[in-house]
Amino acid sequence: MKDSSCIFCKIANGEIPSTTLYEDDNFRVILDLGPASRGHALILPKEHFADVCALPEQLAAKALPLGARIGAAMKQALGCDGFNLVQNNGEAAGQTVFHFHMHVIPRYAGGPSMVTWTPGESTPEELAETAKAIQKAL
Ligand code: AMP
Ligand code: ZN
Repeated sequence: MKDSSCIFCKIANGEIPSTTLYEDDNFRVILDLGPASRGHALILPKEHFADVCALPEQLAAKALPLGARIGAAMKQALGCDGFNLVQNNGEAAGQTVFHFHMHVIPRYAGGPSMVTWTPGESTPEELAETAKAIQKAL
């Protein structure tokens, strides 16, 4: 299903032009307009799903290998030293476009640090309590 008010639906289905790297029946892969680094790409399903929780399993199973394929091509073509696969779900997690997408971000040695966090602290008791809470909801 498409959402007529969703910009990524329009881009994924070719109604709005984009710099497209790859397309198949399920996905379009485009270059991000505001790249975090040279080559930053977005994997967009052609159907509208708000986030990873709404994405059907058979599409989700195709998204990760596609990310690996795009990242490997970036290493070969752009000479990046690695890449991040990043996928934000919810405003609190940094999601700004509510159509599932996976970022493929080339990383260059000596480049700026990104997709990082400051490790916090935990106790075995806290970890066990947290795990129990999540497990109950699985
Ligand atoms: P997120 O914050 O995970 O929702 O990522 C949204 C991404 O979409 C950002 O990196 C934006 O730069 C990118 N973006 C937004 N609009 C467009 C567009 N029309 N074409 C390409 N990239 C876009
Ligand atoms: Zn959409």
